[in-house]
Amino acid sequence: MIYTITLNPTIDRLLFLEGTLTKGKNNRLRKVAYDIGGKGHHGSYAMNQSGVKNQALGFSGTINASKLEKILSDKGINYDFVEVYGKPTRESYVILEEKVGGSILITEKGFNITDYDIGLLFEKIEHKVQREDMVLIAGSVPPGFDLHDLENLLKQLKKIGCFIACDLSGEALKKAVEIGVDFIKPNQFEVQELIPSDGNFLEPIKELSKKIKYVIVSLGKDGSVCSHAGEVHQVSAPTVELVNDTGAGDCFVGTFLASLSLSKSLAECLSLASACAANQVQYNDSTTFNIKDARKLQKEVTVKKLS
Ligand code: ATP
Ligand code: MG
Repeated sequence: MIYTITLNPTIDRLLFLEGTLTKGKNNRLRKVAYDIGGKGHHGSYAMNQSGVKNQALGFSGTINASKLEKILSDKGINYDFVEVYGKPTRESYVILEEKVGGSILITEKGFNITDYDIGLLFEKIEHKVQREDMVLIAGSVPPGFDLHDLENLLKQLKKIGCFIACDLSGEALKKAVEIGVDFIKPNQFEVQELIPSDGNFLEPIKELSKKIKYVIVSLGKDGSVCSHAGEVHQVSAPTVELVNDTGAGDCFVGTFLASLSLSKSLAECLSLASACAANQVQYNDSTTFNIKDARKLQKEVTVKKLS
């Protein structure tokens, strides 16, 4: 079983404008749509498309719980959240202008998590997670959940002995490296924050791989570099027409871990993840991709051993 943990979930409210955003004018909306915003939830969606059973864990606020639950149910995501009474799950506003690529993102911080809520999450994990499971912790941490809490969460998972994957950034990512997890996938900016280098990622990757079984540095349209079992692999990305690259990393991580849980070869895990993420950037939301189309793209992906 795979569990994804989204500590700071968000509901994406996609605002499709008539024309472009203009100050001093009443900007009218063509339509409003909702999408899942949490990185772990995106990972769960990607695992579902790969046919791998998983459950999304984390916090949700009771005030708008039905809204989040409807979005997750519509996307077929199985979840079991710690419900925080009297709080709303944060929303992100994604402004999409007519005939203009890209989007404007405005995000709420999220509500305060208390020690009581954190205790409930730890209890849930204790009951559910087994040694043979995989756990993905993804996204930002909410107010009230500090580095010490993250350390306790990681130590709890290490004690269980499950496979721990982290898609974190900044201090949280540093903490994951310090504690020693099984998988990280920083992008080029996140790895730079972790170990400053002159743009050559090989040294930081080699350094990180002393402690971490799977280190993947993702480089957007330039693909990714993966270090595992003393070998470094360069993975290409298929050339596609970019619509929205938000969530490409989540799609990559979700599909990679799904393939790994099915005991696929490393080259297969990497090439399928690269193809799925490339397929995903062609959609205007940050979740959707089509695994059948991705399998066709996978033929274009090369996985080259560097050392
Ligand atoms: P996010 O945090 O928004 O999920 P990220 O910054 O963590 O994304 P990226 O490095 O942008 O992750 O992308 C992850 C992977 O997705 C890349 O390694 C690549 O395989 C694929 N990808 C991203 N952008 C493109 C693109 N324009 N064309 C093809 N593949 C892409
Ligand atoms: Mg990322």
